[in-house]
Amino acid sequence: MRGMPELQTEVQFLKGIGPRAAETLATKGIRTLEDLLYYLPFRYEDRINPRTIEQLQPGEMASVIAEVRGSGLFRTKRMPIFEMTAGQGRSKLKCLWFRGGYLEGKFKPGALVALYGKVEYSSFGRGGLQMLQPQFEILYEPDGDGEAAPENDEQKHFQSLETGRIVPIYEAAGKLNARWFRRTIRTALEQMPPEIADAIPAAIRGRVGLIPRAEAFWHVHWPDAGESFADLQAARTPAHQRLIFEELFFLELGLELKRRKARLEPGIGFEISDQVRAALKRVLPFHPTRAQKQVLKEIAGDMAEASPMRRLLQGDVGSGKTIVAFEAATVAMENGYQVAMMAPTEILATQHYLSARRILEPAGYRVVLLTGSLEQGRKRSIRNHVAQGHAQMVIGTHALLQDKVEFEQLGLVIIDEQHRFGVMQRMTLMRKNSDVQPDVLVMTATPIPRTLALTLYGDLDVSVIDELPPGRTPVSTRVVDGERAQEVWEFVRKIVTGGEQAYVVYPVIEENEKDTGLKAAIQMYDELRKKVFPELKVGLLHGRMSAEEKDEIMRRFKAGELQILVATTVIEVGVDVANASLMVIEHAERFGLSQMHQLRGRIGRGKAKSYCVLMTGGKISEEAQQRLDSMVRTSDGFEIAEKDLELRGPGEFFGTKQAGMPSLRVSNLIRDRKLLEVAKREARALVDGSDEATPEEKRIAAQYLKLHWNRRFGLVEVG
Ligand code: ADP
Ligand code: MG
Repeated sequence: MRGMPELQTEVQFLKGIGPRAAETLATKGIRTLEDLLYYLPFRYEDRINPRTIEQLQPGEMASVIAEVRGSGLFRTKRMPIFEMTAGQGRSKLKCLWFRGGYLEGKFKPGALVALYGKVEYSSFGRGGLQMLQPQFEILYEPDGDGEAAPENDEQKHFQSLETGRIVPIYEAAGKLNARWFRRTIRTALEQMPPEIADAIPAAIRGRVGLIPRAEAFWHVHWPDAGESFADLQAARTPAHQRLIFEELFFLELGLELKRRKARLEPGIGFEISDQVRAALKRVLPFHPTRAQKQVLKEIAGDMAEASPMRRLLQGDVGSGKTIVAFEAATVAMENGYQVAMMAPTEILATQHYLSARRILEPAGYRVVLLTGSLEQGRKRSIRNHVAQGHAQMVIGTHALLQDKVEFEQLGLVIIDEQHRFGVMQRMTLMRKNSDVQPDVLVMTATPIPRTLALTLYGDLDVSVIDELPPGRTPVSTRVVDGERAQEVWEFVRKIVTGGEQAYVVYPVIEENEKDTGLKAAIQMYDELRKKVFPELKVGLLHGRMSAEEKDEIMRRFKAGELQILVATTVIEVGVDVANASLMVIEHAERFGLSQMHQLRGRIGRGKAKSYCVLMTGGKISEEAQQRLDSMVRTSDGFEIAEKDLELRGPGEFFGTKQAGMPSLRVSNLIRDRKLLEVAKREARALVDGSDEATPEEKRIAAQYLKLHWNRRFGLVEVG
C-alpha cells in the first residue's frame, strides 16, 4: 500500500492552497490530494487551433481567443446589459451579459480573452455575430497590473499552459475559478507520487484494460495535444474510462457486500406444499403469461429460502404485476402469515382492495382496506383486526401502513411504487413485532436497465415482466396542435357515442395567475360539459377532491355512468377501466415522458382500438419535441424510460437524493452503463471468490472500500 498515505494528504498541506481555499474546497467534498485529483474537468477547450471569428457559424457552441476592443453597460427597458466587443484584426464579435453590471472594469482594452458560448446572429445593431452570456477567461492583460500578466518564470510557465493546448475547464467553487483549479491541480499532479498504489486487483485491471492510475490522472487533467478532442469531451479516453471504472467498481463491490450481508439476516422460509400449490391455482383468474410464470418462480424461490426476500418486480404498465403480487400473498397467507400491501395513492389502494376482494376473498382470505379517509373509529377497529390476526391482508397507502399498524405475524410486505422511488427508507420500517424480517416485494412500473436497477436499489434482486398479457391492441398515438381542438373534440364525440369512454387530461387543477394561458382541469371541465359536449356525461377528477368524491367519480366512470373523465395526473397510477379507449392529453408539451407513458397506459386495456391524442398548446422546447416524438414512436416502457433518463439525467428522473442515488464523482450511470455492467460483473466475481485475486489483493480492495465507501457513497458499513 505504499503511496496511499501521500494521496491522503489533506489539501491545506499542498503547495498553493491556503486555509481559505481549503475551506472552499471542503464545500465541494475535496479534502485530500486524491479528492482533488478526482475533481475532473467538466469540459475541455481546444486552444491549440482556436477558431477565428471569421470561421464561426451561428448556432454552434464554439471557443475563440480574441482581444478586448471595448466594453460598457447599457440599459434597456427591461434590464441592464453588459456588452464587450472582442476582435481579431478586422473581425469583431459582440458578447452580451444580461444584468452584467458586475462585469464593469473587468475587460481592459487590449487584454486577451478566451470565450466559450453559443454563436448567434447579433440581436442588437446591424448584423454580425454575437455570443450571449459566454463563459470567459482573461488570459493576459497588457498593462501588467492584472494577476494574469506573466511576471516571473513560474507565471510564464502557467501562462503557457493556458493557450496552445487542450485546456481543461473546471467548475468554479466560490472564488476559486477554473484557472485556479488548473494551476493548483497541475501543481498537485507534480507532487503526486510517480507510482500510486492500485486497489483494483491486477487480474481485473488486465481484463478490463485499465491504464495505471497516475497516468490516468495526468491525462484527464493535462491531455496530450494528440488526444481526440471528441473523446475527451465525451469522457471516453482510456484515462477517463480508467477512473470511471474504478469508481463504479468500488460502488458495486460495496453493494455486493451489502447484499451478501442482508442474506445473512433471519427471515421466514415459507413452505410451498401441495396445499399451497392448490391455493395458488385456485386464486389465478387466467393463464399467466410466460413472463409472469418466470417471475412467480423467482419469487416463490426467494420466499422458500430462510433469508429474507428483497426483490424488485419491474413491469410496464398493464403487464400484470397485481396478480403476481396476489400469488405471493397467497403463499404467505397459506403459511399462516399476514401480508401488508402499500400503494402510493388512495385511488390505487382502493383499486387493489377491490381486486383482492374479487380474487382473494372467494379463496377464503380476509382482506381489509385502511385509508386515511376512514373515520377514526373504523380505522381503530381495522387496526385491531390486523393486530389480532383476524385480517390476513391489509391494503393501504404507504403513509398509513408505515408506522401505525401492528401485526400479529407479518410475513410479506408488498410495496407498489409505480414510478415513485423511495424504497430505501421504506425498507427499514418493516421490522414489525418480530425478530425475523418479513419478505419484501417492491413493484415498479418504470422499467430501467437491470444493472442500473441493481445499483439504484442497492441490495434488491430484480425480476422483470417483459411481456404484456394477450389480447392487447397497441395504442395509436398522434400529436395535434391545440389550434385543431375542434377536430379532436369531434373525434372524442365519435368514439364516445360508439359506446366507449375517454379521458381528457390537464397539467394543472385550476387556472392561476402564475400559469397564464395554461388550460386547467376545473375550467375545462366546465367548458367541455356545458359548451362542447352538452349531450354527454362528463365527470371531473383531481387530487384536491376528498377521497369519497374521488371514489364516487371512479366508481361512476367504471360503471359507464360517465362517458368522459376530465382529470389531472391523479389517474396516472393504476386506474384500470378497460372500456376507456381514448385519451386526450392537453398541453402535452408540459408532461414528462414517463408520466405520459403512465397516463397512456390507462388505455389500450380492452379489445377496442385505442387512441392517444397529445395536444400541444404553447411553446414547444426541443426537449419537449423529443418527448412527443418518443411517445409517437414507441410504447415500449423500457425504451421510454431510457429516453427519459437520457433527457433528464438520473438525478431528476429519480427525484433527487431520496432515491438513494449514490453521489458519483466521475461516472454517470447512464452514460457509462456499459462500464457499469463490467464493474458489476467483476465486483461480483471478486466477492464470490470466482476471481483469481490474491488474498492480499482482496484485503487491499476491502481496505480501500472502507476508506472511501462511507464518506463517498454514505450507504453502508462494510464488515
Ligand atoms: P400492472 O402491471 O400495471 O399493475 P395489472 O396487474 O393491473 O397491470 O394488469 C393489467 C390488466 O391485465 C388487468 O386487467 C389484469 O386483470 C389483466 N391481466 C394480467 N395478467 C393477465 C393474463 N396473464 N392474462 C390476461 N389478462 C391479464
Ligand atoms: Mg398495477
